[in-house]
Amino acid sequence: MKCIEEKILKDGLVLNNSILKVDSFLNHQVDPEVIEAFAKEVHKEFSDTKVDIVLTIETSGIAVAYAVAKEFNVPFVFGKKTTSQTTIDDYFFAKIKSFTRNKVSDVIVSKKFLKKGMNVLIVDDFLAEGNAALGLLKICQQAEANVVGVTAVIEKIFQGGRYKLEDLGIKVFTGASIKAFVDNKPVF
Ligand code: 5GP
Repeated sequence: MKCIEEKILKDGLVLNNSILKVDSFLNHQVDPEVIEAFAKEVHKEFSDTKVDIVLTIETSGIAVAYAVAKEFNVPFVFGKKTTSQTTIDDYFFAKIKSFTRNKVSDVIVSKKFLKKGMNVLIVDDFLAEGNAALGLLKICQQAEANVVGVTAVIEKIFQGGRYKLEDLGIKVFTGASIKAFVDNKPVF
């Protein structure tokens, strides 16, 4: 999407040719216009698909999931990062490695909200190595729910997440696809 690429070029900061900092419109301050434009494209892209619920992971996925869920007129659920194992029986659970923090978190989703046979659209701010999306997929598999697609505002295609998901037969749609960082500048 042109508007997302322009935002990245104008406001993004690349760290170590690896991490894109976009805290002026996605990861700290959030620009509703950009997120809503993305959500509308997602809705178009998945117009032939039945979506019952949108699933994301806290924190940065939440604003995006809200906008996408609103387009589909369905609820969204965010996986919670937790250290407490006390009520684990009530939750689906996966260990997910954070790309930016290089740390593994336990992510839980209540069994009350994710049910067998539901059609789930996974949403996030970024798709990099695919660990967040694959962890959410694992949670959906425990619930015997169907993942109908994975979508993210920005992907760094050179970090491989898309290919892992496509190899599993999952449709992937992203708002902007970064092929590489060259001298700390994104190349689309
Ligand atoms: P993955 O799990 O696909 O490797 O990485 C996706 C997750 O890591 C997203 O939830 C996102 O929050 C974070 N992430 C990955 N790459 C970046 C990046 O370049 N910039 C920011 N701000 N977050 C990223």
